[in-house]
Amino acid sequence: SGTAQQKKDTKVKIVLLGDSGVGKSSIALFLCHGRFSDKHQVTIGAAFLHHTIQLKNGESMKLHIWDTGGQEKFRSLAPLYYRDAYGAIVVYDSNNVETFNSLKYWINEIKSNGPRNCYIMVVANKKDLPQKLNAEMVMKFCQQENVSFIECSAKTGENINTLFEKIASRIYSRYKDILFYNNQ
Ligand code: GDP
Repeated sequence: SGTAQQKKDTKVKIVLLGDSGVGKSSIALFLCHGRFSDKHQVTIGAAFLHHTIQLKNGESMKLHIWDTGGQEKFRSLAPLYYRDAYGAIVVYDSNNVETFNSLKYWINEIKSNGPRNCYIMVVANKKDLPQKLNAEMVMKFCQQENVSFIECSAKTGENINTLFEKIASRIYSRYKDILFYNNQ
């Protein structure tokens, strides 16, 4: 048996959603460059970052990470933003209750405008700061919405790789037949 290889030009598109300031760019930046900046760098938000994730089964997956680039201020994003997304990371700031209140909006946004069967993961960022939301309550909410949940910190890097590995492996199980060659 051979290993499956991702089709040459397939990049698995992942979109980042959530209120401004929750740490979307910081999460992407830490994943791709392994560093954190305290400055709010709005320009980074416009970037599309690429990152290859090593899956536990030995495969690798090329992720194409889309950030809103501040468009969240206009709330409704262009359909182009969601098009062909395999996964959506919906971020809130666990130190800021208001950003959790927006979660339902962002989840509905991807569920109604995104591709059907898009894998949705809620991410509670800023785990290094005092927590203003009860994680159990949030978990219950995520179960009701049928989405995954993970806590992380883009400052310390805690769980950043783990959350992308989780997304990649879930997408792998769902879509391996269309994303990979099978060299059996
Ligand atoms: P975005 O608007 O959602 O892309 O948010 P940014 O990535 O620009 O982050 C907004 C602010 O929060 C910046 O000042 C970041 O340095 C800070 N920030 C992001 N992630 C974390 C984190 O995990 N912990 C802490 N303490 N600050 C963070």
